[in-house]
Amino acid sequence: MSKALLKRLRGDSDYFRRYEAVKEISSNVRVSEYLITNACNIRCKGCWFFEYDFDKNTRDVTDREELRAFLRSERDRGINSSLIIGGEPTLYVKRLEVFGDEMKHNSISTNGLKKMPMSGFEDFAVLISLFGGGKLDDELRAIRPNGQAFTGLFETALKNYRGDPRAHFIYAVTEDGIDYIDETVRRIGDNGNTVSINFYSKYGSNDPLRMEHGRRLLEELLRVREKYPSILASHPYYIRAMVTGRSHWGEFGYDVCPSVSIDHPDNTERIANGNPVLPGFNAWASDCKTINFCCTSGHCADCRDSQAVMSWLMVSQLKFVRNPDLFKTWIEIAESYWHQFIWAHHLRNQPPAMMAQNDVPLLAAE
Ligand code: SF4
Ligand code: SF4
Repeated sequence: MSKALLKRLRGDSDYFRRYEAVKEISSNVRVSEYLITNACNIRCKGCWFFEYDFDKNTRDVTDREELRAFLRSERDRGINSSLIIGGEPTLYVKRLEVFGDEMKHNSISTNGLKKMPMSGFEDFAVLISLFGGGKLDDELRAIRPNGQAFTGLFETALKNYRGDPRAHFIYAVTEDGIDYIDETVRRIGDNGNTVSINFYSKYGSNDPLRMEHGRRLLEELLRVREKYPSILASHPYYIRAMVTGRSHWGEFGYDVCPSVSIDHPDNTERIANGNPVLPGFNAWASDCKTINFCCTSGHCADCRDSQAVMSWLMVSQLKFVRNPDLFKTWIEIAESYWHQFIWAHHLRNQPPAMMAQNDVPLLAAE
């Protein structure tokens, strides 16, 4: 097997070593998503969670022992890693402690307004969301739950996570903010952090994925990626897939999306269609009983979720292996994915600058 793979890489032992490293981690990480609270300290425009009333459907589990018992039942079904979302997870640090006790790897998605304590959470990956860049971030997000606007959300997040090795920004870009991309990425780098690209979809609008300047957005992202390869971790192939919704073999959508809850009854047909899914993945609501449809809104027509698009590329390894350059690209994409997580630190030693030698179309892991 190893010899055959090495041959597929034209005998490139460095890439083969890198392949083994990403394969090892992707085989050992079994993740589910946990929405630990319905509360949030801001109200972003375009937030699917509030737009579609996810906050009204369930009540938080507030008892730590109940949460612990639930996480142990998750471990019993093979899950060892959490992606913790909300609402805003940093509002309930005591709940996060239980995740730290029970799960091997933990990652939180946060708006960055409240600093995640370091003590006891040294190995939590902190994924900080950012919308638009420049003044757009405040326009879109710096809104208190009572509707009052404030300023400086991005500045606060930068201050809270300056030089913090756990931090990685997830930057949702928008056509309106093309001119802010360069400066925003540079500022994240100056702050001692790294960043990946997401796509801003304004849920509730008529056509959130419609683009008038898609080509310009893509060109600017690729230019900035080339300019700041050690700051912007996203691989050029992934950036193209994110902006266009297409890979070299097909189009992103529900029928291929791997980030569906495997135990949600509405996904039975999807799982049966044979396209890969994340093994054991469920997206749990804050009551630890309700399984949501998928990792995000469940509105597939509006969706270009970055984790889902990245997972699609990751699980589609077989689409890449037959061509050595594509195979190398897949390895680089996988490295850029794991770069987000401090607990994948051995891959983090591979700086993004060392990736993306092969800017050509790519394959998946499981
Ligand atoms: S921080 Fe997250 S959960 Fe809170 S309003 Fe913004 S997108 Fe929604
Ligand atoms: S909403 Fe997005 S992430 Fe969810 S199943 Fe649909 S395509 Fe996948």
